[in-house]
Amino acid sequence: MATKKITGYAAMASGQKLTPFEYDPPELKEHDVRVEVTHCGLCYTDVQAIDDYYGITKFPFVPGHEIVGRVTELGPAVTEVKKGDRIGIGWQGRSCMKCEWCVRGEEQLCKEVAHNGVWEPHGGFASSISVDSRFAHPIPSDMNSEDAAVLLCAGISVYNPLRSNVTGQPMKIGVVGVGGLGHLAIQFAHALGYEVTAISSSPGKKEEALGFGADHFILSSDREALRRLELSFDMHLYTAHGEVDWTTLSLTVRNNGKIVVVGFSNVPVKFEPLELVVHQQSITGSFIGNRAMMREMLSFAQQQGIRPKIELMPMAKVNEAIQRVKENMARYRIVLVN
Ligand SMILES: [Zn+2]
Ligand SMILES: [Zn+2]
Repeated sequence: MATKKITGYAAMASGQKLTPFEYDPPELKEHDVRVEVTHCGLCYTDVQAIDDYYGITKFPFVPGHEIVGRVTELGPAVTEVKKGDRIGIGWQGRSCMKCEWCVRGEEQLCKEVAHNGVWEPHGGFASSISVDSRFAHPIPSDMNSEDAAVLLCAGISVYNPLRSNVTGQPMKIGVVGVGGLGHLAIQFAHALGYEVTAISSSPGKKEEALGFGADHFILSSDREALRRLELSFDMHLYTAHGEVDWTTLSLTVRNNGKIVVVGFSNVPVKFEPLELVVHQQSITGSFIGNRAMMREMLSFAQQQGIRPKIELMPMAKVNEAIQRVKENMARYRIVLVN
């Protein structure tokens, strides 16, 4: 009996629009599960990968890495999930499980990271996908699938640095960029008890940023307002894609404070060494999170009622959705539904 083909949406070459694309289901490895995709969020990283921004995209490329669906088939060694379970998968679909980082439980830093994306061989803008079951996360039963989808990449990307950089003192956090990541960062930082300042280039986002739990709102172009906050912030989470005045931003960071870059900004990070040295500041990055943090994040979001703001679109409108993200029109995340 011929196996049913998977229907996905693929870019055939760099920068091209996605077109319907059929392919054979990959053979399941021993720990793999096959998942029928019901929902998949659209992340800016998908858009960059279509354009081969990272230089590792293999075409035909089926993007999509904020996936929720039902398990339909199990590899022989799968013990953690069963058929019919509703599970979620973020960017990481597998890891080598034996390098020093995997052994320490920091699988997101696995040496094989370039091959660990759920995009390989094909991602979530499809009828079905297969992943290592150890990266298939159970979704809390009363969480919507579309909300869960967005938490699996945007959510973990901001939750991890907010939880990993706790000083033990009351903390002032700046969230730079109020978009797909930033609107969740504000909610998580507020729920974790931090004093949150949203810093955005769009005056129109003020009311919503305050609604998400920000205590203050500052326009990123308002250098005077930023200068008044000299040495104020314990940490900025930098989630934006646009240009930023790094020197002014670093003036606002306290002694021993940090600027944590999450997501892949297109703009270079430029720093004057003076502030960095005199105030012992750090600029650092944060990449998704490990499996334990992912499960903690989902449970914390569910308990605290943290929900992404979403536009739902049918999977067939994927190109329209990509266009909205490119034009910075999505408020704040688009989830495609099969
Ligand atoms: Zn993502
Ligand atoms: Zn590894």
